[in-house]
Amino acid sequence: MAGVAIITEACIGVKDRACVDVCPVQCIYEFDSVQNVLVSEQMAGSGVVENSHAPNADAVSIFGDSLLYVNVDECTSCTACYQPDVCPVGAIYSEDVVPDGSSTSAYNADDPHKGHDHTFFVGHTRAVFAD
Ligand code: SF4
Ligand code: SF4
Repeated sequence: MAGVAIITEACIGVKDRACVDVCPVQCIYEFDSVQNVLVSEQMAGSGVVENSHAPNADAVSIFGDSLLYVNVDECTSCTACYQPDVCPVGAIYSEDVVPDGSSTSAYNADDPHKGHDHTFFVGHTRAVFAD
C-alpha cells in the first residue's frame, strides 16, 4: 500500500519527530501556537524552517501542538514514514489502510490504540491546513 501518510492518535503527546527525519519532502508539520503557523523543519529540532502554512483555526484547535500533521497535498506517498521501524508508537498509516475499528482492520504492531476508529484523522489532516 502506498498512499499519502496520515498521523493518528498515538502521536498525541509523543511527537518525537522520528517521521520528520525520514521524510524527503518536509511535508510533516508542527503547529506553532505562538506564531499561529504550521511549520516543517529541514531536520527535526534544527530550527531551520523548510515550509510553512496557515492553519484552519477550528481544526487545529482540536489537538493544537500535541501531534504532528502531514500535508497530504505535498506528501509524495514515498512510504518512508510508515515503515514499521520509524514511528515508535505506530501512529502513521497509509491513507488507504487507516483502520476503521472493524474486526478486519489491520493495525500497526506498536499502535496502543488498536481497535479504535482512526478514520477521523483522514479528514482532520486535510482540514488543518488552510492553504
Ligand atoms: S514518528 Fe510517530 S510519534 Fe513520532 S512524531 Fe512522527 S507520528 Fe508522532
Ligand atoms: S509518505 Fe513520504 S512524503 Fe509522505 S509524509 Fe511520509 S515520508 Fe513524507
